[in-house]
Amino acid sequence: MMANAIRQIPFGRPIVAEDESRAVAEVLRSGFLTHGPKVKEFEKLFAKYTGARHAVAVSSCTAALHLSLMGIGIKPGDEVIVPAQTHTATAHAVELCGGLPIFADVDRETANIDPDQIALRLSPRTRAIIVVHFVGLACDMDAICDLAASRGVEVVEDCALAIGATYRGQNVGHIGLAGCFSFYPIKHITTGEGGMMTTDREEVALLASKQRAFGIDRSVEERQLPGMYDVGFLGNNYRMTEIGAAIGLVQMKRLEEMNAVRHANYRTLRAYLSEIREVTLLQDAPDGSQSGHFCLPAIFREDTGVNRSVLIEKLNERGVGTSIYYGCPVPLMSFYRKKYGFQPGDFPVAEFIAARSIAFPVGAHLDEDDMVYIADTLKECLPQAMQS
Ligand SMILES: *Cc1c(COP(=O)(O)O)cnc(C)c1O
Repeated sequence: MMANAIRQIPFGRPIVAEDESRAVAEVLRSGFLTHGPKVKEFEKLFAKYTGARHAVAVSSCTAALHLSLMGIGIKPGDEVIVPAQTHTATAHAVELCGGLPIFADVDRETANIDPDQIALRLSPRTRAIIVVHFVGLACDMDAICDLAASRGVEVVEDCALAIGATYRGQNVGHIGLAGCFSFYPIKHITTGEGGMMTTDREEVALLASKQRAFGIDRSVEERQLPGMYDVGFLGNNYRMTEIGAAIGLVQMKRLEEMNAVRHANYRTLRAYLSEIREVTLLQDAPDGSQSGHFCLPAIFREDTGVNRSVLIEKLNERGVGTSIYYGCPVPLMSFYRKKYGFQPGDFPVAEFIAARSIAFPVGAHLDEDDMVYIADTLKECLPQAMQS
């Protein structure tokens, strides 16, 4: 027998329970696994939650990003500005349209895309800017939307880690033309895999709802003869299943409560981490805005000689799960490096954050005691991870 069971703190874990099982069983019994009422209900509820006029449920955030860019009409040769420090999906969506991702470095204090870097990269070929609300903190949307408007380019928001975040009182997801959300298992809420596109513009929502289903001109209900339809433009199969939507509907009921736990965990852990000399923290949202608080990245100061891999290993041995958001700036991933010839040093701030940060969990699967344990364990492990 072990003398002391070690507390286990996974970085992420979906919170799904009996209610979700019941909802899935009900869908299975109904016989409608796709094209049914649950997706529509989920879209309605999600639109209401975000305040967007329209929500289009899809199979992933990547699909939502792709559909947003298809809606703008991104074609080969068009440039789309994206942050260097993000999930690879943000840039892949541009490539999927044949467009050119133009990477911009991020801000040192927030890890969000830097408006000054955007301004330097705007060209006559720029058609759109994708902003990523980094681990939940809204980007400087006033500056970015002003820049975009002055050049007639569209703004798409990657809100994969920002459900519930606000910018100056406004929900993220329809400040720009469209918002893209993720329901991957360890995001704020899950549908297994899944995503949502939000927008205030009816024609953008309508086009996306057709392009998520092959570009077919009419829905199943609208067909006079089964099997008879026309295809007016290129599309994908990016539909969400009824099973996913049924899970999502239950998750939405818990979202406010789960986010409240998330915010409380964040505040607790932030207070502890801010007392640790070796650590610097990214800014939290200013008054009047609210971060989605996906996780809490700690940046280990260079002059302290902390060996990050050793530290992660020591933390892991004591049950503290961590992650890195994101471990390698997207332009330095092999695909982009080979295609465009990017080199280390091209995106100094993104590279600094990628190399020096550890993301700690604050999700609703954890509580106050877990936060204290993370902080105590970090203090214990730090000396062992310092190079002598
Ligand atoms: C997770 C994530 C995505 C991809 O979401 P999927 O639903 O897995 O396609 C895109 N952007 C960001 C910022 C993410 O964190």
